Amino acid sequence: MAKTAIITGGGRGIGKACSLLLAQNDYNVVINYNKNETAAKITAEEIKKKGGNAICIQADVSDQCAVNNMIQVALKTFNKIHCLVNNAGIAAENCLLIDADKCLYDKVFDVNMRGVYNCTYAILPHMLSNSNGSIINISSIWGQTGGSCEVVYSAAKAAVIGFTKALAKEVGFSKVRVNCVSPGVIDTDMLSCFTDSEKSELIYQTPLHRLGNPLDVAKAVLFLAGDNADFITGQILAVNGGLYI
Ligand code: NAD
Repeated sequence: MAKTAIITGGGRGIGKACSLLLAQNDYNVVINYNKNETAAKITAEEIKKKGGNAICIQADVSDQCAVNNMIQVALKTFNKIHCLVNNAGIAAENCLLIDADKCLYDKVFDVNMRGVYNCTYAILPHMLSNSNGSIINISSIWGQTGGSCEVVYSAAKAAVIGFTKALAKEVGFSKVRVNCVSPGVIDTDMLSCFTDSEKSELIYQTPLHRLGNPLDVAKAVLFLAGDNADFITGQILAVNGGLYI
């Protein structure tokens, strides 16, 4: 029987790569999107063309009511959800903390941390009652090391790591696993704030000497989702080419 995975922000960037790779590996895929319906639909079409199964569901992950509805629709459609990939995230514009006002703080925490809480909170009763589930949270290298001019984003992504480790201890007895993937510098729209020369500098600093791509991250997600990782929980898997760690 095919497994089912929900990927938040699954229509673009790292989320899209996760949607495609999980579908290729026999998962039914629920592609969550907030505003970019077109990207989600294109991704679902790509999956269906290759014989896979995907649906798109709109929900702003920071809105608990919308997330609850999304989980209900997903369960009605597929009956069981085996995997949740909390991928949706936003970067804060690079700025010093003294310029990061309450509005920016709320925006960054609402999506990057509250979104993880909302989706996990909504799906957990289902996974606990099935004694089965894999939750994979996408953190960031900045959540591990801290990034100058990215203090609020770093704090939100560090919170995701704390959430992962604590929840893994709480739900392990029910065979629900909770892990993080922590990307380094991955070539997606999120890097649009970097100039070409800044990207070259990052490549130079990376021991494996290239930027990461979304598939690099998706391969780690696929591993943590499946049975090959069935004795792995509470872990932070860094996908960063050796940068800074
Ligand atoms: P991206 O901007 O291409 O993708 C982010 C996705 O999240 C998009 O699909 C977007 O629509 C979705 N999203 C944003 N706000 C949402 C909301 N409120 N509700 C639902 N969906 C929402 O960027 P990406 O690089 O693919 O990022 C994916 C994840 O990886 C993010 O959590 C990001 O913080 C993390 N990350 C990325 C990098 C990188 O270098 N690209 C590095 C470390 C961590």
